[in-house]
Amino acid sequence: MDYQLVIIGSGPAGMTAGLYASRAMMKTLILDKMGSGGQMLKTHWIDNYPGFVDGVSSAELTEKMLNQAKRFGLEEKYGEVSFIEAVSRKHFRINLVDGNSIDTNAIIITTGAGPKTLNVPGEKEFTGRGVSYCATCDGFFYRGQDIAVVGGGDSAVQEALFLTKFAKKIYLIHRRDRLRATGVVQEMAFKEPKIELVWNTTIEKINGENEVTGITVKNKISGEIKEIALTGVFIYVGIEPYTDFMGDLIKKDSLGFIITDEWMKTSCEGIYAAGDCRAKPLRQIITACGEGATAAYAVEHYLLEL
Ligand code: NAP
Repeated sequence: MDYQLVIIGSGPAGMTAGLYASRAMMKTLILDKMGSGGQMLKTHWIDNYPGFVDGVSSAELTEKMLNQAKRFGLEEKYGEVSFIEAVSRKHFRINLVDGNSIDTNAIIITTGAGPKTLNVPGEKEFTGRGVSYCATCDGFFYRGQDIAVVGGGDSAVQEALFLTKFAKKIYLIHRRDRLRATGVVQEMAFKEPKIELVWNTTIEKINGENEVTGITVKNKISGEIKEIALTGVFIYVGIEPYTDFMGDLIKKDSLGFIITDEWMKTSCEGIYAAGDCRAKPLRQIITACGEGATAAYAVEHYLLEL
C-alpha cells in the first residue's frame, strides 16, 4: 500500500484533514491538480476566520495551513484524478490522468466546488475577455472602468465590494428585490457609493466584438429591456461541486454534492468527504476545516479496526 490515507483536494477541508491525519501518524498524501487553497483563493481577504483580528489574506492563510500540516509529515503531490477503483476492502486505487496510480487504505474527498455559469449568449465567448468568475484574479484589469457583478449571495456582494478598489462603477445585478448575502456585507454594499444595485433584473446577453462592450438586461417586473455599456462582467451565481470523477462509487444529491453522515462517511466504506463538495447547509472556511478534522479522526478510527 502506498498510503494509509489519500486526501483529494487541497482547500481548507483537505489541508485540515491533512494536519489531523499526519498528527495522528497516518501516512498521508494530499493530492491536487493545482496548488493549495481551493476556493479560498478566489477571494482576496478573509474577515471571518477566527483568530485574525484584522482579517487575513487568503494567500497567507493557505500558506500557513499547508505548512502547519507539512510540519507533521503530510506529503503533497500534483495530480488530477481520472477515476477510483475499489480493489478490495480497505484498498482503493486512485488512477491519475497521467496514467500513474496510487494505492491507499482510505480516501477523503475535499475537491470543493466551483462557479456556476449563467448560460447566456456571450458568456462563453467572452470568458477571459471581459467575463470573469474571479475578482481577485482579474479585478486589476478593470481600473477606472464600469463593470457588472451578477448575483445576490455572499460571493457576489463581497466581491463587488472588493472590486470597488479598481472599478469606477459597479452594477450589482440581482434577479430579486432582496439580497441573499449576510447582513453586514449587505450593509457595506448599500453604503458604497460606487455600487449601484440593479434589482429584479437578469442579464439576457453579454455584448461585444473582441471584448465585452456591454450587457443587455431585462427588468423582470416591468419587462423593460435595456443596454448597459461596460467592459467587465463578474459572475457569482452559486457553485457546483467537483465530484464527477467519483462516478457512481458514492451517493450524491441531485446537484452532485456528496452525501455523508456526521462522521463525514460516504455511502462507500473507506471513502469520506468534507468541505464544499459535501451536501450541507453552510459553506464557510471554518466549517470546511471542522469537517476535515472530523473526517481525519473518523479515518483514524476506521484504520485502527484494520
Ligand atoms: P449562493 O449563496 O448560492 O448565491 C447565489 C446567488 O446567485 C443568489 O443570490 C441567486 O439568486 C443568484 N443566482 C443563482 N442562479 C442565478 C441565475 N441563473 N441568474 C441570476 N442569478 C442567479 O452562492 P455564493 O454566493 O457563491 O455562495 C456559495 C456558498 O459559499 C454560500 O453558502 C455562501 O454563504 C458561502 N460564502 C461565504 C462567504 C463568507 O462567509 N465570507 C463568502 C463567499 C461565499 P437568489 O438569491 O434569487 O437565489
